[in-house]
Parts: sequence; structure tokens; C-alpha cells
Amino acid sequence: MTHRATAESRSSRPDSPFPTVADTDIHRVRQTIITWFETAARPLPWRDADTSAWAVLVSEIMSQQTPVSRVEPRWREWLQKWPTPADLAQATTAEVLHSWDRLGYPRRALRLQEAARVIAEELDGSVPQTAQELERLPGIGAYTAAAVASFAHGERTTVLDTNVRRVLIRLFAGRDRPSASPGRAETEWAGQFVPETDHEKWNAGVMEFGALVCTARNPGCQTCPLNDICAWQKAGRPASAEKPKTQKWAGTDRQLRGAIMDVLKSAHAEAASDFPDSVTLDLFTASTTTIDSDLLDTLGHATSESLTKMRDLTADTDRILRIIDGLVVDGLAAQHEERLTLPQ
Ligand code: SF4
Repeated sequence: MTHRATAESRSSRPDSPFPTVADTDIHRVRQTIITWFETAARPLPWRDADTSAWAVLVSEIMSQQTPVSRVEPRWREWLQKWPTPADLAQATTAEVLHSWDRLGYPRRALRLQEAARVIAEELDGSVPQTAQELERLPGIGAYTAAAVASFAHGERTTVLDTNVRRVLIRLFAGRDRPSASPGRAETEWAGQFVPETDHEKWNAGVMEFGALVCTARNPGCQTCPLNDICAWQKAGRPASAEKPKTQKWAGTDRQLRGAIMDVLKSAHAEAASDFPDSVTLDLFTASTTTIDSDLLDTLGHATSESLTKMRDLTADTDRILRIIDGLVVDGLAAQHEERLTLPQ
């Protein structure tokens, strides 16, 4: 379910599952977080005052599920290549997926290009200004819409990512971590903390505080400037009954999808050196001992290496073909007869 994330100052409703917070604590937390942010924030390039709304939007999409340290170099390259939505709208899908590199969850790249096309073709190249309008773009959910409206356009929204939710839930509900995803009641409850002025600093600050201080695994409670009012700290930091879901990587279909994509991205890059930009299906499924070396010799060095790594992951032909089918259905690969390539 998605819904608007415009900030609202209000106390918890009588039926709200979230605690009522005293005005003095609201003011204290706002002030503390904003002051902390002004001195402790990381100098992330998309926070510069002259960053375009498009660049902010790209940073938010890239940062979903990917650490900012990996995002920053890709973000810089991406904006150098495609500084406006119109530039990305005209790029080939193959180039977009290749440039996404190893940020993971590459469907995000396809959705970002779809959003760029809508902005370029229907909105005169301007990134929408309000969270409500931003949410109408392909691939833009409530969180991203609120974040871009706040950070790029100064709209007073409630930006609610995992970090923000964890900080507020620990401080006032005394729980280790929030539920799987926020609902309307939590968004309304969190809205009371967003100040009338400096709301962008609050939104960015509380997110940063969750990323650097009140972290999921190792919160710095001893030196935390809010530890005297933190309900979770006062309760002795009780662990949640439910264990957090850990995202396995090794041995998963996600790992194999990534390895097959790596082969296609290498072939795309080496096509500039006169190697083929596609790879025959046989090469994905053949075992190392039965592989036709003449066929392998037709590939560039990086493609051949990626292929070897991919084949080392599994010898299960049915599984490989099933994953290739999934990539084609998701628009991340294209199959022409017996050859696989990045979509053109
Ligand atoms: S005291 Fe610990 S749990 Fe509470 S807000 Fe600070 S870092 Fe987070």
C-alpha cells in the first residue's frame, strides 16, 4: 500500500499502536538530531546545494538496498553520462544495464529509465516537485517520493526509511526494530516529529543518525546524545523475539542471476573490440569438460572469465535455463534464437 507522506503534526490517535510522545521530547529529539547532523553528516555529493532534482532522484534509487560507498562512484559516472532525464531516456537498455554495474537489483535501472522517459516526454524534462506527483512515476514508491520532494524541492514530507523507523521505534516504543514495512499509522505518527522549519535537515539528519549512530547491529548508545530519554536503552536493550531476516547471497538464484548478467555485461563491453555482444545458450549450460573450445575462443577475455565464474556456481542446466527465462521475462536479457544478449 502506498500513500502520501506529507508531514502532519499531530498526537497519536487513541487507536494508534504507537505511543504518545510529549511535546518536550519531540522538541528535544528534533533539536538534538538537527544539531548533530550539522556537524556529523557525511559529505555525500548529492547533498550539495547545487545538486539537481534529477541527480537527487538517481541517488535515492541507487541507494535503495545498496550502501552509499558503492553508490557514490556509480552515481558520479551515471550523471556524467546522463546529466538529464532526456539523456537517459535516449540510452539503449544495454548501456543502462551495463552502467548499473554491480549495484544489484538491476530492475531498478530499468524503472529509472522508464521514469526518465516519462519526465522527458510528458513533463517537459522537469522532475515533479511534490511527493504526490513523484509517486505517479514508474518505480517511485512512497519513501522515494517523500525523499526527493524533501531533499530536492524542500517540501515538508515525512521521509521514512528503515534507519528513521529504527531510531524512532527505539526511542519511543522501546523496541529493537520496526515491523517489516510502515503503514499509514506509523507514517502519521512519525509525521509529528517533522518540524515546520528545517524539515529537510530533520529528514536527512534522522536518516543519517540511524545509518551512523543508532545502527541495526551495533548502536552507539553509550555516547548517544539521546540515551537519557531512549525507551529501548532504558529497558536494557531487549532483543526482539523475531530474528531479522538475513539475506543470503551465496548459492542463491540472485547470485546466479547476477553472474549471468555479468557475462552479458562483459560481452556488451567487449563488443567494442569486435567480439560478439551475445553469447550462445550452449556456453551457459555446457560443463567445462564438454565445452567447445573453438566457441569459447570467439569470446573476449572478460566474457570468457565471467562465463567460467558463472559455470563454477552450478552445473544444473535446468536451473540455469529457468533463470535465463526469468531474466528475459524481466527485460534484463534478450534471447534471439540460441543467443543471449543485453536488451538493445
Ligand atoms: S540510545 Fe542507543 S538505541 Fe537509543 S537512540 Fe541512542 S543509539 Fe539509538
